This record gives sequence, structure tokens and C-alpha cells, in this order.
Amino acid sequence: MSDAIDPADKPTPRRKPKPEKRSIGGRDLNASTLMMGHGYDPALSEGSLKAPIFLTSTFAFENAAAGKRHFEGITGKREGGAEGLVYSRFNGPNQEILEDRLAIWDGAEDALTFSSGMTAICVLMLANVSQGDVIVHSGPLYAASEGFVAKVLSKFGVTYVDFPAGASREELDEVIKRAKCQAGENGGKVAMIYLESPANPTNALVDIEAVKEARDANLKWPCPIAIDNTFLGPLWQRPLDHGADIVVYSLTKYVGGHSDLVAGSIAGAKKWMDPVRALRNTMGGIVDPNTAWMLLRSLETVELRMSRSGENAAKVCEFLASHPKVEGLGYLGMIDDPSQQDIYDRHCSGAGSTFSVFIKGGEAESFRFLDHLTIAKLAVSLGGTETLASHPAAMTHLSVPDERKAALGITDNLVRISVGIEDADDLIADFAQALEHV
Ligand SMILES: *Cc1c(COP(=O)(O)O)cnc(C)c1O
Repeated sequence: MSDAIDPADKPTPRRKPKPEKRSIGGRDLNASTLMMGHGYDPALSEGSLKAPIFLTSTFAFENAAAGKRHFEGITGKREGGAEGLVYSRFNGPNQEILEDRLAIWDGAEDALTFSSGMTAICVLMLANVSQGDVIVHSGPLYAASEGFVAKVLSKFGVTYVDFPAGASREELDEVIKRAKCQAGENGGKVAMIYLESPANPTNALVDIEAVKEARDANLKWPCPIAIDNTFLGPLWQRPLDHGADIVVYSLTKYVGGHSDLVAGSIAGAKKWMDPVRALRNTMGGIVDPNTAWMLLRSLETVELRMSRSGENAAKVCEFLASHPKVEGLGYLGMIDDPSQQDIYDRHCSGAGSTFSVFIKGGEAESFRFLDHLTIAKLAVSLGGTETLASHPAAMTHLSVPDERKAALGITDNLVRISVGIEDADDLIADFAQALEHV
């Protein structure tokens, strides 16, 4: 065609959009505003308002020198990572946009996405430990995280010391000193402090600030504090503001939010992300482009969804708290322990929508309640648009030994509920009729 543009006239294509304005007239834009456009320039994709899904295994280089430069970034020969896309095990446009947007929520310098929350956790830990090292972790952890430390990393000479969520500064000092001794005996170091707060299913909170103080007072080498923020993040708890170095998510839960995908992420300073990125480049485990695209859609409504489910949970818990068939609640909006309340006040901006309800009676009464729910579905997982209910002692924590269950407060009358975004009064009506069968 005669009106074809001479390629030489075209500006060099920019792979990444120019850094977007993050503030207007001195006002920093809210994360929920930035979720609509941050990290994506329609002009780079034929004007498509939404990012296309980039289904490709590899990326064409502009020229040979660019290919060399990108590989220098990937292999660590040059600082700062790859300037361009190389191969889809390393990264892709959908994943990069997603990582840029996830980093915003936690105020992190960088983020990495994975094919599941557990992939994120396993690659994070593997990248940080060597033979003889010790991981200090809060308890209980998500069962698969606890299993990875105790059963898999132990095969490579990595041991652990755990402490109960809610431990005081003094107790934390003791725990870290004990871990230091253990590491000394094994010829390693305390390589990582790994937290999960609130703990599942008890909702016990970890004092992140106290952990940081204890780490700084007792360890003289860089030992990152990572925290699984799946239950409250990204809306109701920003752990990097309270002394954590790395925040971990199962994006499967609130962030994905529709119970239709599995994915995970970590975020933090580049110095903590780089070694994990290098191991992810080697192992794979990056989220796929289609799932990344779904998560971009999810992030546009994450604040709306989480706010609504949080409001619903508050109303439902108010109803349940005074019900004669309910013995008690494990809900962060109704804490009775002053030291837990103190942690909540310092760390959390909302009580979430996942909580425990203790039914009067035992397993039989709890099962009758569960079997008569009509709106709430009987399923494990949490953070979706729909309300879910489960029985941890008989389901997610079935394999936990009885003594440990007792120590963790996982009783036969504990039902865990994740409240969704349905109408709150409909949910209350459903819980009311199900309780009549107890
Ligand atoms: C679900 C979950 C995980 C694991 O995430 P997957 O996406 O299922 O691999 C880790 N931690 C917590 C707290 C979870 O709820």
C-alpha cells in the first residue's frame, strides 16, 4: 500500500509504559484508583483499553545486541534485571502489569507472581535457606507451609523453631536465641523469620513490630521477616509498614476473590525479590498469562469486594454473638484479649470476613448447622464473593494430632466461615434457620 508507514519513521517501541502519575496536585492517588490503568499503556497494544492476554512462549528481540543485553539482565551479569521480555518462564506483559499493581497495595518496591500461593512460599523459602540454616516461624501456619518446612526442607538439613502467634517481645527474644544456638550447632544461620497473621483458624495475631525488634536486637546479619498476609491483605493489613520485609499472598483468596483461579505472590524490596526471581527463572512457577489477566480484573474491584464482605461479616457476627446456640466467636472485630487487641489496633485497619464460630455442643451439632446452611456453601478456601463454611477439625486440620489441635484451640465445635458479598440480612436469615437445627 502506498500510504504504508516507513518503519524507519516509527519511534522505537517502548515495551513498558512511561511511569504513570501517582499523584495529582500533591495528592497521592489511592491504590484502588491506580488499579484501572497502572503499568499499562493502550498505545502499545493497538489502543486496546484493556490489556490483551499475551499468549506466547517467547519474545522477538529488536536486534542481537538487545537480546544480549536482556540476557545479561536475566543471568545477573548486569544489575537491574532484564530490560526487555525474553521468554515466558521468566516473565510476560500480563504478569508484569499484575506485579506492578500488586506492589502498590503493600507499598513495595517490587513483586513476583506465582502459579499458586504454595509455589510462592516454597520458592521464597528455597531461595533464602542453605544447609544447616534455621527458619523461625509463628504457629500455626497454613498446613502446607508448615509441612514444607518440617518435611521437605528438613531433607536438606534445614531445621525450624516455632512460636505461638501472640508471643511477647521477651518470648520472641528467647525463641530467636534458641534458633541461633540450633543454627550454630548445625553450622548454619537463622535464615528467615516466617509469620502468618492472623493464624488460621484461630485468628490469633502476630506482633510484627515486636518480631522486628527481637530480630534487630539478636541477629547481626540480614534475616528477612516474611509474612503470609492472605487473610487480611491487601486491604486490612500492610505488614511492610510494621517492620516485615516480604509480604506473601495466596491470590487464590481475597485478591482473586471469585473462587475461580489459583495463584500466589510475594512483594518487598528489590534486594529480597532478586534472589527469588532468579530461582523462579530457573524453576518456573510464574503465574500464566490468562490467570494474570483474571487477577488484573479482580484487582479493579478488590477494595469494593473486601469492604462489602467486611461489613457483612460485622453484621453477621453481631447476630451470631448473641445467639443462644453460639458459645463464642473468633472474630477480629470482637477480641477479648487486651494484648491481641493492642496488636490489632496497631496493625489492622479492618477485621476481615473470615472468622470462627463455636457452636454449643460438639461435632454432631456443628455438622447439623453446616448441613442446614442454604446460601453458604460447604467448602474450604475463603475470600470469594460467596459465603463458605467448613469444619477445620474434620477437614483442613484433620491430620493435625489431637494434642496440637487442642493447643491451637481447634475444637470439634469450631465452624469456620468466610463471608462473601451477598446481602447481609439474607445471610443472617440463613444462619438463623440453620442454628434452629442445632
Ligand atoms: C490458601 C492459602 C495458602 C496456599 O495458597 P494456594 O494458592 O492454595 O497455593 C497459603 N496461606 C494461606 C494463609 C492460605 O489461606
